[in-house]
Amino acid sequence: MRRLTREDIKKWKTSRQEDTSDIQGKVNDIVSGVRRRGDAAVKEYTEKFDGISLSDFRVTREEISDAYESLSGKYLDIIQEAAGNIRRFHEKQLPSSWFDTSQDGSMLGQKYTPIDKAGVYVPGGTAAYPSSVMMNIIPAQVAGVERIAMVTPPGTNGRVPIGVLATAQILGVTEIYKIGGAQAIAALAYGTETIPAVDKITGPGNMFVALAKKQVFGDVDIDMIAGPSEIAVLCDHTARAGEVAADLLSQAEHDERSSAVCITTSRQLADDLDREVKEQLKQLPRKNIAEASINFFGGTVVVDTMTEAVDTVNEFAPEHLEVMTENPYEQLGAIRHAGAIFLGPYSSEPVGDYFAGPNHVLPTSGTARFSSPLNVHDFMKKSSVISYSAAAWHRNVDKIASFARLEDLEGHARAVEKRKERFDD
Ligand code: NAD
Repeated sequence: MRRLTREDIKKWKTSRQEDTSDIQGKVNDIVSGVRRRGDAAVKEYTEKFDGISLSDFRVTREEISDAYESLSGKYLDIIQEAAGNIRRFHEKQLPSSWFDTSQDGSMLGQKYTPIDKAGVYVPGGTAAYPSSVMMNIIPAQVAGVERIAMVTPPGTNGRVPIGVLATAQILGVTEIYKIGGAQAIAALAYGTETIPAVDKITGPGNMFVALAKKQVFGDVDIDMIAGPSEIAVLCDHTARAGEVAADLLSQAEHDERSSAVCITTSRQLADDLDREVKEQLKQLPRKNIAEASINFFGGTVVVDTMTEAVDTVNEFAPEHLEVMTENPYEQLGAIRHAGAIFLGPYSSEPVGDYFAGPNHVLPTSGTARFSSPLNVHDFMKKSSVISYSAAAWHRNVDKIASFARLEDLEGHARAVEKRKERFDD
């Protein structure tokens, strides 16, 4: 593993940004093609990019129940248990509407309403992600979203992986379309003859998916633009180098552009980690991807104090942060920027990916400085509620009318003053 400096970490956010203009042009064409020509365009793009000609995109109820029947009971049980954990965690996020009444009889409040229609993108392509089905759909269900449509690319055999469909069946999702990439995002955003439009699109995907989401944003809402995975492990001399190495590699194996960084106060641990990463890489089935990722942006930052180590973490703002120190709770308060924080030696990152309960759709590329994991609030919106009493109107009418005139909006002033007629006689 390379030795990195705090400066390297600071520069990382800008140095990793890629020029996507080539792909963006292609994505624009796909999105406008689907917008103009609907199903015919989706069919053409599915043939071109997924290698399959489909006459109907909708996954049938039989396909869903067949998938459920054919997945082994062991996996069904694990998915059920994970779904329960994830649901319980997200239920704690449910906000309450509030209404405050003042002595003059006025009421001001905030009303939460779930969005009507959500579209969830579950990536396909080279792998199957039942965990993404759970992490996107459960918060939407907890929020109370009435219509949830799921899209996921078909394989060249025209099928969707059974783990993905079985998970949908467990969650009770039946509106599923076999479409992927930018054409799926465009279909969800604008609707086609067979795919109704949604209000918000969530879920991770490759560059075509990410750029299409960016393009349709504004016409519909989106959750975030997810970049390649990141992990930072903050540790001292008490951490085991073998465990740190395994956890770094668990993210490095995602993508050649993932980043895996150890930030430590222990030179000895840094040296041991070099050997461990080398050894463990040899045994990893996805060695080539993990190695490319470690070479792309992997390494160890050795600092003198824990304060400096935590400052470095905050500068990185990683998607995943593991804290393996003598007392991880001591660092928790000072950690300001991280998508998910895993404390102690037993909280290995995959615990959060699949099972513990918190969401695994997390802010990447330094966006943890200003954004949060996918959550129930993403599927809800707030309306302000104002109910002014006559007493409150009397007390404030002249101030409000004056404010309107300050802005040269006479119509506003007259509207609020019009109520004076009620008291004329
Ligand atoms: P994907 O579903 O994102 O993309 C597959 C689609 O891309 C295909 O259906 C095809 O239509 C389109 N496509 C492929 N090549 C194209 C081309 N040349 N032109 C136009 N469209 C093209 O699946 P993927 O590619 O395997 O990528 C999945 C991504 O999602 C990975 O980067 C993975 O790391 C990420 N992921 C992230 C999370 C998370 O929670 N952050 C979870 C799971 C997966």
